[in-house]
Amino acid sequence: MAIWNLGSINADMVYALPHLPTPGETLAALDLQQFLGGKGANMSVAAARAGSHVCHIGAVGSDGKWAVDRLMEYGVDTRYIDQIETPTGHAIIAVDRQGENQIILFPGANRELTTDQLGLAVSQAESGDILVLQNETNMQAEAAKMGRELGLRVCYAAAPFDAEAVQAVLPFLDLLFLNEVEAQQLEHATGKPATELGVSDVIITLGAKGARHFYAGTGEILDVPALPVTAVDTTGAGDTFTGYVLSGLDRGLPMPQAMMLATRAAALMVTRPGTADVIPDLKETQDAQF
Ligand code: AMP
Repeated sequence: MAIWNLGSINADMVYALPHLPTPGETLAALDLQQFLGGKGANMSVAAARAGSHVCHIGAVGSDGKWAVDRLMEYGVDTRYIDQIETPTGHAIIAVDRQGENQIILFPGANRELTTDQLGLAVSQAESGDILVLQNETNMQAEAAKMGRELGLRVCYAAAPFDAEAVQAVLPFLDLLFLNEVEAQQLEHATGKPATELGVSDVIITLGAKGARHFYAGTGEILDVPALPVTAVDTTGAGDTFTGYVLSGLDRGLPMPQAMMLATRAAALMVTRPGTADVIPDLKETQDAQF
């Protein structure tokens, strides 16, 4: 089995500054660090590290070869990542001495995926494979429809929230991931709770309170509490959780076990700074003591 991830690939460029720039000001940075980021890339790395075969479908510019190499190094199948003329998506993150930040996000190549590229990749998928989507690329609705027609398990993380994008994919979904805020935004947009929109499985993550799975078939609810850790940096915890749940399902685990493993991986993530580069592998996740 495999996981097909239509997802973003970003360069996160973190500039350390004496203070945040004011309009018209030119400011010399004290330091620059570049990391692999993007919700899509984070999920691919998490699912690959958890032991799944993950094919990432995405695009970078000529400046993004290092990001593709990094994904490959972390075990992701990069054959379906195109190199195009538009620059790689990136986030310019300015951080001052107090840790306050300002972020400029350039979606770039992430929003230039084509029907041909998508069709070529998804036609290689087998019935029962997982297809996962988020909102940092284009083509979500086309992919979801294609996935449903081919008998794939279509999964979607509604992040960053976009009311129009969610409603376009809803009819084709098997599993919907939301955080607490996105669940409220979706209810506001549709006038119904996320669990009453016709998707059979819905997982709502609740930060330090854990995660909740709703199975529409029986009305069953499963609560998986978070583990007691000292949070240092919660970025990437949600993406790691999602990638681990999907890998668990891909490897045949029942939902409760998949969620418990994902909770362990996400707990490790909140204890360390960084995102894709520090996602734990399966052994580390299983062996961790909490
Ligand atoms: P979130 O995207 O913030 O809802 O978090 C996703 C998952 O990461 C949660 O369901 C938890 O399993 C885990 N998590 C997030 N924040 C914490 C925290 N402060 N302590 C332990 N686990 C956390």
